Amino acid sequence: MTRPGPWLWITLLTLVSCQGGPASREPFTWETGEELLRRGIFHAIKTPPEYIVLEGYPLEYRDAIASGIDTARDFFGNCGPVRVYILGQTNGEVGTASARQEFVDEYCRLRLENAHPGYEDDCLDGPGKRLIDVASSGGQEAYLSIVIFTETPYAELTFINANDWGVNDLPIRGIHEYTHVFQHVYPEAAGWLTEGGAVFFEAWLGSQNGWVDFPQAMRRSMSNAQEGRAAGRGLNDMEYVRDLPEEMVPYHRNIAYDMGVWAVTFLISCSRDGSIERFRDEFYPLLRENGWQQAVALYAGTEDIAEFYSTFERFLGQPLESQMKLLEKIKR
Ligand SMILES: [Zn+2]
Repeated sequence: MTRPGPWLWITLLTLVSCQGGPASREPFTWETGEELLRRGIFHAIKTPPEYIVLEGYPLEYRDAIASGIDTARDFFGNCGPVRVYILGQTNGEVGTASARQEFVDEYCRLRLENAHPGYEDDCLDGPGKRLIDVASSGGQEAYLSIVIFTETPYAELTFINANDWGVNDLPIRGIHEYTHVFQHVYPEAAGWLTEGGAVFFEAWLGSQNGWVDFPQAMRRSMSNAQEGRAAGRGLNDMEYVRDLPEEMVPYHRNIAYDMGVWAVTFLISCSRDGSIERFRDEFYPLLRENGWQQAVALYAGTEDIAEFYSTFERFLGQPLESQMKLLEKIKR
């Protein structure tokens, strides 16, 4: 969206904990909301994600999504606050009328009760109603939205019609969306880095649980990335931070997600030991001091982002089998 809206679409056991604390209080304006996003809007908290499930919707979907979210929380730490909304069709119906009402009321409750004065949105007829409309029309969605206009900003992870997904897609999408929550502990970054990172963690963490064949997923992504590359598109077309440019919509999947996941893997492999935990612990904090371009260059050991792009472009020109060897260079 072009104007800051009430929400933004972005599509520990080892207590690695996301760092950062709540931001200092100041009168709220859209600009201060935007500033929060630029600095990193979420933080390490103790409260686990809260699940809101449409009454009557089978709980097996919630459990499968939660297993992915919990896998990501084990790796990233518990960040938030997070509310998870799960709804969909059962026998062609999106619950009963009263179940739908109760779900929308709960979805809108915090948005209405905790909104800064003057920033209440028309949730019941707007975003709340939309959830039911999408579910009723059979749409399938999984996304993060960030509610920035409430006293305490929070993440909404919404999963619509998960009943139509493959059995492994539920936990994988849980990992993907929760990765975005972790990413937003830190300053916003380019679309390819954000989506590429989420795809990397859904595939890699997913593979640890047998939900994903990691090499196979990476081969598929490389094939899609090469399609985008053949169309003359590259990472520099996916540097949007919040709003995807309209003209890039056709390339979003191939470049931000599929070329992005390889770029993130390439970046991880640039560190001295290819450690994925090191990437989590050292790369993301670099965003605070340096912004994403410089953070990428610093981590990759390149002069600047342009040199990173050209080095990565040479990598994309290699035969697939030597590209796949990169996967052997990264480790937990
Ligand atoms: Zn995403």
